Amino acid sequence: MPVRMVFRCQFCDATPDPETHERLVRQLHELVFGEYLDALPGRWLVWDGQGPLGPRRYACPAHRGELTAYLRVHYGSVGWQPWRMPPYPTTLRSADTERALRMRARSPTPR
Ligand SMILES: [Zn+2]
Repeated sequence: MPVRMVFRCQFCDATPDPETHERLVRQLHELVFGEYLDALPGRWLVWDGQGPLGPRRYACPAHRGELTAYLRVHYGSVGWQPWRMPPYPTTLRSADTERALRMRARSPTPR
């Protein structure tokens, strides 16, 4: 049974438009540590901390600045990653990510 992911801005509870939602779903498969990711076209900002850098966090376009400020206050002394500056990538596809996608994919994504 398909599971519908729900993404919310952690500051205002906004939800992304359908196209940005699809980008966020795809980014769930990215295997990254301490990275900001841009989710277009809605300009959402994703923080993929992992481990000591905390859970994955989301911000709507209006709260991108709040998210980076929050992360720098709470994790800025844990690592340098929260201090990354824009522009942020939209994907960090790697061999590991590709492998995870292949293992997870039961049916190929239409091209
Ligand atoms: Zn927001």
